[in-house]
Amino acid sequence: MTNRIFAANWKMNQAPADAAAFMRTFLDQYARHNDRRVLFFPSAVSVHVVEQAVKDRSDLEVGVQNIHWEDKGAFTGETSGPLARAAGAKHVLVGHSERRHVFGETDEETGKKVAAAFRSGLTPLICVGETLEQREAGKTIAVVKRQLKAALEGVEAHDVATAIVAYEPVWAIGTGKNATPEDASAVHVEVRAKLRKLAGERGAAVPILYGGSVNRSNVDALLKADGVDGVLVGGASLDAEQWLAIIRST
Ligand code: PEP
Repeated sequence: MTNRIFAANWKMNQAPADAAAFMRTFLDQYARHNDRRVLFFPSAVSVHVVEQAVKDRSDLEVGVQNIHWEDKGAFTGETSGPLARAAGAKHVLVGHSERRHVFGETDEETGKKVAAAFRSGLTPLICVGETLEQREAGKTIAVVKRQLKAALEGVEAHDVATAIVAYEPVWAIGTGKNATPEDASAVHVEVRAKLRKLAGERGAAVPILYGGSVNRSNVDALLKADGVDGVLVGGASLDAEQWLAIIRST
């Protein structure tokens, strides 16, 4: 894989001043690597700060953590795709496990958000993954395929080709327990097969990231695993030094 993706999900952290300080440290120490892209997903209130920091670097990009499926209207507290785009976001996380399991987001809503992302010119980074219970019941592949189908059914193949997918087992997020490289590979192969089924050969172009307790110690092995095109990182992306160590890996 020559064009790896390293994506930082800052969740509900990094106020604008913190984000600015982080980006200063980061930019001072990180020169462009032609074989990798780095994506930041700050809180919506810090998107503008990060966008200003990365605007002269085509290898660094910013996204939002969530959008509503409608483009505008009376949805207090929500952010739409066009608003996120106007604030400088290029990407949006869709279907993150915290949206699904803390906020009750359904497969159907995830599909509507993916459609809204494409409509407003945002690249969706679609997160899929099974709970521990589903894993223990042998349902991992079925769950991941169902989530992907719901997210991408009806999307034109040329749009699917521009999406990014992350396999994030729910039991690995924020727990310190990551999937083994072999387990991640086994799921990534099935995700690739499903993408080809949904979008034909264009499905081959979609990067598939692994996420779930990635840190500087396990990132090399995960990136060497077959079918892993990059990583989506939560906790370990909040500290500039650790994040720099992760994105300089392999
Ligand atoms: C995430 O939030 O997408 C994530 C993978 O979190 P963590 O790296 O903290 O497990």
